[in-house]
Amino acid sequence: LLSVRHLRKSYGDHEVLKDVSFDVHRGQVLVLLGPSGSGKSTLIRCLNGLETIQGGEIRFKGKVVPNNNERAWRALRTEIGMVFQSYDLFPNLTVAKNIELGPTKVQKRAKAEVDEQMDRLLRDVQLTEYKNAYPRELSGGQKQRIAIVRALAMNPELMLFDEVTASLDPEMVREVLELMLRLAKRHMTMIVVTHEMEFARRVADTVMFLENGVILERQSGDDFFTHPATDRARSFLDSMS
Ligand code: ATP
Ligand code: MG
Repeated sequence: LLSVRHLRKSYGDHEVLKDVSFDVHRGQVLVLLGPSGSGKSTLIRCLNGLETIQGGEIRFKGKVVPNNNERAWRALRTEIGMVFQSYDLFPNLTVAKNIELGPTKVQKRAKAEVDEQMDRLLRDVQLTEYKNAYPRELSGGQKQRIAIVRALAMNPELMLFDEVTASLDPEMVREVLELMLRLAKRHMTMIVVTHEMEFARRVADTVMFLENGVILERQSGDDFFTHPATDRARSFLDSMS
């Protein structure tokens, strides 16, 4: 589904991603781990066309995405959903309007069909009663679940998650992680950055461990968590437990 080759990204003369290559196939859950500043968020942002890149190639569904081409990325963002740490719901729109906006305005789908899908998604996250509420009336966990629902309403083929629970109170973390686990069970293709190691262990097909913009390890989740190949990953896991 996604293929990244020799990706390089710098801010000025600081090289943040150095020759990063990997693939994600359909239905795979790739968990991206690494210390703070290792380049996880930058990589996620590159995969949604939010960063200009200095080199390498990104292929999605077999087609090369032309480098730094905003138009190409705008089209792709309907197929690649992204949710990050700060809930980015439009504060002046109701939950329903937030969810409908992309599918009806960008994808130009019929409102009736979108609404039907929205009702299903809201039921699934048990937030039907908040359909006409405004984001400020929701808890952090509810907002984050709506942000995920909003991305799902576009029927993306790939979902990118960057620390979506990082700013939530502990009791709200679980409801968001459970939603992500359900998505994984339904074979949603996902790339997930998280600091929740227990969750990472449960959800990961593959773990990729990044340090200083370099992939140090890439292996199955089971192998990574039971016997990481590098000392660096081992001490990272120790520090997280
Ligand atoms: P964390 O776990 O803390 O979220 P991360 O792995 O997501 O860390 P990034 O946010 O990708 O790390 O940052 C990687 C490096 O790029 C860091 O050294 C950071 O200072 C630098 N960086 C990130 N964004 C910018 C920017 N807009 N301008 C300049 N440098 C940046
Ligand atoms: Mg980050």
